[in-house]
Amino acid sequence: MRKNYSGISHALAKMTVLPLLLFGICTMLFSFFWIQSSMEAEVHSELESIAGTAILAYDGLYPGDYSRYGDENDLLFTKGDTILNSNYNFMDSLKESTGIDFTLFYDNIRVITTLCSDGDDRIVGTFANEQIVADVIDQNASAFYTNVDIFGKSYYCYYAPLYNSDGTCIGMLAAVMPSAQVRVLIVKATLPIFALTLVAAIFAGIWSFSYSKQLVAVIQKLTGAFEKVSKGKFSNTVPAELLSRKDEFGSMSHSLVDMQASLRTLVEQDMLTGLHNRRFGQQKLDYVIENTRGTNRGFSIALGDIDFFKKFNDTYGHNCGDYVLKSVASIMKDTVKDHGYCVRWGGEEFLIVFTNGTYEDHRTVMQSLIENIRNHRMEYEGQTLAVTMTFGLIDASDYESSDAMTSKVDELLYQGKQNGRNRLVTLEDEDLPNPLR
Ligand code: GH3
Ligand code: MG
Ligand code: MG
Repeated sequence: MRKNYSGISHALAKMTVLPLLLFGICTMLFSFFWIQSSMEAEVHSELESIAGTAILAYDGLYPGDYSRYGDENDLLFTKGDTILNSNYNFMDSLKESTGIDFTLFYDNIRVITTLCSDGDDRIVGTFANEQIVADVIDQNASAFYTNVDIFGKSYYCYYAPLYNSDGTCIGMLAAVMPSAQVRVLIVKATLPIFALTLVAAIFAGIWSFSYSKQLVAVIQKLTGAFEKVSKGKFSNTVPAELLSRKDEFGSMSHSLVDMQASLRTLVEQDMLTGLHNRRFGQQKLDYVIENTRGTNRGFSIALGDIDFFKKFNDTYGHNCGDYVLKSVASIMKDTVKDHGYCVRWGGEEFLIVFTNGTYEDHRTVMQSLIENIRNHRMEYEGQTLAVTMTFGLIDASDYESSDAMTSKVDELLYQGKQNGRNRLVTLEDEDLPNPLR
């Protein structure tokens, strides 16, 4: 039996797992970008709200306008009466409670900030990005950025302009959050979706693999049945469990049973008479010889031939001859059915194998068969027809091989033909002249 059936299991597993993985990857990408954009919107609104709160708090804590004094080397920044340089109390406590960094710019210069350089020094006195200054201070508009490089580190930043009481924009306040911190949040939110997709793919893979294994087992059984048929076994090849299935396999199994029956008919039957053909009749005879050897079961064979059939064909036509062959075969089958079986041995020649009853029984059956044929009237295209047959009969258990049996019974048939036809000839009659029976 061919054993390489892994193709279907693998194909089914691929069919289930690959689309699921593809769907999972698409879902993950979509959720990643969706979560990223909603996270950014959330960060934006959080930074905006905190920056607003910080500006209001500064105005409340230190009433008055922002001012700048001194030269570039010694700058002093104030709000109202308070010097802002190094005044970190409020900003640091705000950072502690919110986790967000703040920077106050006077114009483009960092005046106070919670951000430190690598050496832990606050990056005061440094300058804002030119583009941001142009967007916020020059345009008098707040702005949100997702990737601002501040001393080699990426930040989400919100910048709000700072105004003095006369409405002039004197600087800006930045509320910032490290991009890495936001990315961690995004990854954390995406992770469960990734895990769920992975688990679903694994589960689907296992399920489809075990299902395909069951499927392959059924296909193997069906293939086994097909192989038996291909080797010429025409009965009981399809397991009952396949025939009882209500699915396509069940229907295939029933078709296979039908196919077997058709093949059996083609291989074993003579198409005109419906009797066994010579090939199958010979096989069956060999089987009977094998199984009755050494037993005392009755076993006889008879060989018969329609008398003057050529003349019959010539007179009434070949089709009428066929009709007669069918009629004679049917009488033969009916008469012999309880005792054995009939074979169309040649054109108008028939072999009868008796496997039930004694030789005497068989002789009696043959006598009534000859009589039945002789007395049978056939109607064909308005004409009433009748034929006779001549038979030889032997007790086959006296012979070793089928050849020996058939040649002896053929001898008796020939004798019957010589002695006037329309009769049964047995060994007991062999020496009798003209035994009309
Ligand atoms: P005998 O009594 O000696 O047997 O004479 P016969 O005419 O029957 O014998 P013969 O062997 O001369 O002729 C047999 C005929 O059977 C010849 C053939 O045309 C005919 N025959 C054989 N097979 C078929 C068949 O399938 N259909 C028809 N219609 N005729 C067949
Ligand atoms: Mg004949
Ligand atoms: Mg003949």
